[in-house]
Amino acid sequence: MTHPPRHLADLDLAGRRAAVTALGEKPFRADQLSRHYFTRYTDTPEDMTDLPAGIRATLCDELLPRLLTSERELTCDDGATRKMLWRLHDGALVESVLMKYPDRVTMCVSSQAGCGMGCPFCATGQAGLTRNLSAAEIVAQVVAGERAVHTGSQPTATSRVSNIVFMGMGEPLANYKNLIGAIRRLTDPAPAGLGISQRSLTVSTVGLVPAIRRLTDEKLTVRLAVSLHAPDDEARDELVPVNRRWQVAEVLDAAWDYAAATGRRVSIEYALIRDINDQPWRADLLGSLLAGRLAHVNLIPLNPTPGSKWTASRPGVQEEFVRRVAGHGVAVTVRDTRGREIDGACGQLAATVTGRSVGPATRRPGTRLLPLA
Ligand code: SAH
Ligand code: SF4
Repeated sequence: MTHPPRHLADLDLAGRRAAVTALGEKPFRADQLSRHYFTRYTDTPEDMTDLPAGIRATLCDELLPRLLTSERELTCDDGATRKMLWRLHDGALVESVLMKYPDRVTMCVSSQAGCGMGCPFCATGQAGLTRNLSAAEIVAQVVAGERAVHTGSQPTATSRVSNIVFMGMGEPLANYKNLIGAIRRLTDPAPAGLGISQRSLTVSTVGLVPAIRRLTDEKLTVRLAVSLHAPDDEARDELVPVNRRWQVAEVLDAAWDYAAATGRRVSIEYALIRDINDQPWRADLLGSLLAGRLAHVNLIPLNPTPGSKWTASRPGVQEEFVRRVAGHGVAVTVRDTRGREIDGACGQLAATVTGRSVGPATRRPGTRLLPLA
């Protein structure tokens, strides 16, 4: 595992000032650099005309190293969905997806290169964990998204990334420290960070209970999404191997405590897999577990991974599942399938939706995408 170069987005403002001082410069230079990066999205010395020409290159080399190199970009939906594949300094590949809607812009980011959780329906899970991303590597995906918002064909009401979902590659809560650092940088106002509202961030987890509890104690207001995928331990043990450690009841308990502490509705993610977890009795069990809770179910039609024996539920079965969950008084939506064309084109991007009926999120790195180099 190689360490990515230090970047100002790995540090809080005090840390950046100390780093600049150690380079023999005045602390306020850290604020100038930060404003360039977080408000103008630039890391190019030539753009930094408020810094003496003689020190620009050094400061940029030391605090704004290039972390992401574009490997490939794919667009669909008339340019409204844009998938970006990035090469990191050590050759690891991660992807992010930018989705423009009339009223908002959602960015789906990766928190790890690969993932160690081994969920059998997930392309990232098949490839295993390469390494954690640094806080700055996570933030850099959003900064790249901010640059990209201004290009492309679809005009939007907002010219900035308004929502962020941690639904790209990796398990964010398995990279806890850097996740929290990234959340701070994304949400602290400039010059400390990008100033995006905490409420507009969604952290999606496979259900690492101690980390959910730790996140609860951070007193943030980010939304929590829990990838449940089954209401019973028998099916969940198969679909989400980490369930053998933290079972359904324990995961949901932690989720309800998070909801109580934040006042925010927890999103329960459920990939519908034909004949595996889509039976009517499982819909009823799910509905009864969530009834009366501060929760919302997001059903995701399975996006089959290459070579997988599993596929999405039949439409009638999906409708019946929705009907039964809703019958328990539980809010339920089915994610739209934005980005399907670019999924198809590159093997494995499951475009998804979080939030209300059309709120996007997404994911999926592709095993097919990865051997491009
Ligand atoms: N590791 C975290 C976040 C990344 S995965 C998690 O598991 O929650 C983001 C979402 O995509 C999760 O809900 C995950 O279960 C879902 N997902 C993974 N592979 C999928 C596939 N092939 N089809 C549909 N959804 C998938
Ligand atoms: Fe990891 Fe999430 Fe994929 Fe499971 S679904 S392997 S936790 S990225």
